[in-house]
Amino acid sequence: MRHLLAVDDLGSDGIEEVLRLTASFVEVSARAIPKVPTLRGRTVVSLFYEESTRTRLSFEAAAKRLSADTMNFNVGASSVHKGESLRDTVLTIEAMGVDALIVRHASAGVPAQVARWVQASVVNAGDGWHEHPTQALLDCYTLQEQLGRLDGRRVAIVGDVKHSRVARSDIAAFTSLGADVVVVAPPTLLPPSLAGWPVEVSHDLDGVLPKVDAVVLLRMQQERQTEALVPSLREYTASYGLTRRRAALLGERAVVMHPGPMNRGVEIAAEVADLPRSVVTRQVANGVAVRMAVLFLVLAAGAGS
Ligand code: ASP
Repeated sequence: MRHLLAVDDLGSDGIEEVLRLTASFVEVSARAIPKVPTLRGRTVVSLFYEESTRTRLSFEAAAKRLSADTMNFNVGASSVHKGESLRDTVLTIEAMGVDALIVRHASAGVPAQVARWVQASVVNAGDGWHEHPTQALLDCYTLQEQLGRLDGRRVAIVGDVKHSRVARSDIAAFTSLGADVVVVAPPTLLPPSLAGWPVEVSHDLDGVLPKVDAVVLLRMQQERQTEALVPSLREYTASYGLTRRRAALLGERAVVMHPGPMNRGVEIAAEVADLPRSVVTRQVANGVAVRMAVLFLVLAAGAGS
């Protein structure tokens, strides 16, 4: 695999391969010195045009645990503000000798565009509303760890589906591993058409919760003007927030996930985020191992293919 741009690049066999590799990198991460020499001499650059806490640090930790050299391109302090085009920026970075570019951008399709310009491998770290494939892979790994398998499990994805690249990638990945997905959102936070989406749709969170094995809460993407799409955040929480009362409707073994950053008190109540059934920090820990697996696949396994 040369690039990872979207979940569909992998197919169910590819996803399963990533999950198998992730298990071995979870083991590496648990060692006293969590480092292997697999990518020694390789250079991985993060090119983030949109802010990030988890994803950037997680890729950096993953690259370092594989002994790659890492560089961070800080858009704020770069020549982008002097008017340099994306293409010139990317070609400049590549000329310094780069093996993989981790790309995040507010516009859908930018990582795919970058992949057409460079020889290096490109990994999509989130592009607009389109995809966030490594988030979906770490969500699959976490579900498998918590529930044993995805096949036949029922997962609710709740909230701002319209603006969520996590929802798009999660739906593709979960359903390709055999899970049933129900999206729960007000009509204004759903895409205009769900034709072709392999999901059920519900507007009744209370009715859905007792029937699911996991619930993935999505952040209200206020930077994408979601506030105008609900009467008020308080009313959104009243109908679609995972409050303490609602969390009690979940089955005994059901887990709660959130890709972060969480808006405590909006899509998830502060105390629900801290319940034992909330596996948000497992997601973050698994994210490093998943990204090790992805970097291994694009840079080491079958390199050049
Ligand atoms: N961190 C995730 C993303 O970059 C989710 C979010 O921002 O709500 O898409």
